Amino acid sequence: MSWLEGWSGAGITGAAAGRRMSAGRVVVVGSANVDLVVDVPRHPAGGETILGGELRRTPGGKGANQAVAAARAGGADTTFVGALGRDDSAELLLGSLVGADVRTDAVERVDSPTGTALITVSPDGENAIVVAPGANAHVRIGAAQTERIAAADVVLAQLEIPLDTVVAAAGARRDGALFVLNAAPSRELPDEVWDQLDVLVVNEHEAADLAGASAEPESLAAALLARVPAVVITLGARGSLVAERDVLAVRVPAAPVEAVDTTGAGDTYCGVLAAALARGAGLAEAARLAGAAGALAVTRPGAQDAVPRAADVAALAE
Ligand code: ADP
Repeated sequence: MSWLEGWSGAGITGAAAGRRMSAGRVVVVGSANVDLVVDVPRHPAGGETILGGELRRTPGGKGANQAVAAARAGGADTTFVGALGRDDSAELLLGSLVGADVRTDAVERVDSPTGTALITVSPDGENAIVVAPGANAHVRIGAAQTERIAAADVVLAQLEIPLDTVVAAAGARRDGALFVLNAAPSRELPDEVWDQLDVLVVNEHEAADLAGASAEPESLAAALLARVPAVVITLGARGSLVAERDVLAVRVPAAPVEAVDTTGAGDTYCGVLAAALARGAGLAEAARLAGAAGALAVTRPGAQDAVPRAADVAALAE
């Protein structure tokens, strides 16, 4: 029996439908961090020192994760627009991006340390994270970045970089290209961001923050549709909800998998969603592929290291 049995994608016209997109080009504008991860028996309290397990140093950051996902799991021609320092961490990140066939020629090197996330993981799998943005505070849209963005079918951004950069990235896209924002981590959005949005992707917490109230996903989506044409709310092991103006909202169930590490599930989802939209898929179909990719990502440890291959995503989504 298919895990999609009982799900009906009928009735959804994609946000991208009718736009006749061609090559499937995605530009991801966002952060790149090295994740320094330690397993701990419990998270330390203020003023406390505890001993943890072995240090892991892995490539992460929402922007870089989503770029790797769009390219490797989504099969899109993907360019990453970001900023890295001139340090070992930058080399680790470039290696991961290039290894996933992400174009890195619009990545700037700046005189700040590469972004770093300090992550402790308790035995129940809960993460506590501090991010030192470093170079990510210097991501900007100059001539080289504008040229890349103008050639994209989908521009995908998140909120770990300056809001001005997000606005500039959205403004640099050509007519007909989609601007997809993963509004994470939660922060208030100015009108100039809302006004540019084609598709908003958020988890339940972020949706509640933006809607200014806690409610069922369907109600949150309905509230957010007052400001954006299309909303996707990710619901972890419960899958996702796809909602567009004037179309009945659709729940896309998650594949049943054994979750090992949920880091990067949301990023994998966003990257694959953008890749599918760039090929011209409708929003519900894109969400189905993204959900399959997110499910595979939670079966492996790490962020970029956990991003599955496109063939495995297609096999699970069938
Ligand atoms: P975030 O990490 O941003 O909170 P989610 O946890 O909602 O994002 O995960 C993104 C997507 O990945 C979900 O919509 C779902 O499709 C998939 N996913 C996440 N966790 C699981 C899980 N335990 N089992 C199956 N799919 C999952």
